[in-house]
Amino acid sequence: MAKTQTLRKPAQLRERGLLPAGPPGAIENVAARYAVAVPPALAALIDRGAPEDPIARQFVPHIRELETQPHELADPIGDDAHSPVPGIVHRYPDRVLLKLTQICAVYCRFCFRRETVGKPGALDRAALAAALDYIRSHAEIWEVILTGGDPLVLSARRLREVMKALAAIDHVKVIRIHTRVPVADPARVTAELVRAMKRKGKAVYVAVHVNHPRELSAAARAAVARIADAGIPLLSQSVLLAGVNDTAEVMRGLMRALVECRIKPYYLHHADLAPGTSHLRTDIETGQTLMRDVRGHVSGLCQPTYVLDIPGGHGKSPIGPNYLERTGSNGAAHYVVADFNGGKHDYPPR
Ligand SMILES: *Cc1c(COP(=O)(O)O)cnc(C)c1O
Ligand code: SF4
Repeated sequence: MAKTQTLRKPAQLRERGLLPAGPPGAIENVAARYAVAVPPALAALIDRGAPEDPIARQFVPHIRELETQPHELADPIGDDAHSPVPGIVHRYPDRVLLKLTQICAVYCRFCFRRETVGKPGALDRAALAAALDYIRSHAEIWEVILTGGDPLVLSARRLREVMKALAAIDHVKVIRIHTRVPVADPARVTAELVRAMKRKGKAVYVAVHVNHPRELSAAARAAVARIADAGIPLLSQSVLLAGVNDTAEVMRGLMRALVECRIKPYYLHHADLAPGTSHLRTDIETGQTLMRDVRGHVSGLCQPTYVLDIPGGHGKSPIGPNYLERTGSNGAAHYVVADFNGGKHDYPPR
């Protein structure tokens, strides 16, 4: 039985060899501050012999999480500044986030919502009704993005209710589900759950959060295939993380593995300024160098857009690398464009 349990306490992580043996210590303070959950599917992927295992780094709490930098923010992407009613974040005109729950199947140590995930605060019936009213009364909302928390921790019945209510809104044409469940708890992706996601007349997309190729275990691949086989297109979101995927080899392998699973790489996120996560962040140049490498070595299908969510709620912007420069002056202006090998080529102004 113990083997199939989600590990939520440092003592359980010690018992399983995922934290060094010993008496309670500072790690207990980390667990008291930020939610911990390592589900069996992910615990099984951790190489206990490797102290810096990329799966462990993402999910096993670390004492460095107690080090908060002055520029780190409780609400790093500024959700609160754009929340007209509970559960809704309306930052861009044509799309909203709908946060149904704050629960996830796994708690990532770098989570941008780590101050809120894992805490009570699921939308109750009245709040959900108010959030749906908000969407209904804003005809400019073309797309609804279910996020949280993780919408796929909900029961199939509850998910179906929400999907039906959204599908009944004429101006909502696209429903996107952001999730880590296919990787964290692949068995949850049942035929019933997949049916609950599908809605006639609406385009439903699933965006899966994956950061290392090893997360795409046989079970995760099968879960993803159940979604793809139902005709639901899949996208990926990955977070650039130090010691997890900040090498060319891992990043190429990740993007290829995603495409092999019929998941189109969508975003590579620069890690947000969430509190206690500086040991997991890289600088932006590292990300740009990796993007150039991926562009130079693997298929065009494997290219995500590298984005930064600007602190304060200003939204996401692509942060390069840039292949085009405009140079020259006095009417002699022209372009210089870099090729995938880094060679530079002149191009006329028009
Ligand atoms: C990230 C985000 C979206 C989705 O952005 P896309 O670029 O469409 O993927 C929408 N709303 C908010 C508030 C977001 O943070
Ligand atoms: S699955 Fe997403 S929301 Fe949940 S802890 Fe990980 S990064 Fe945060």
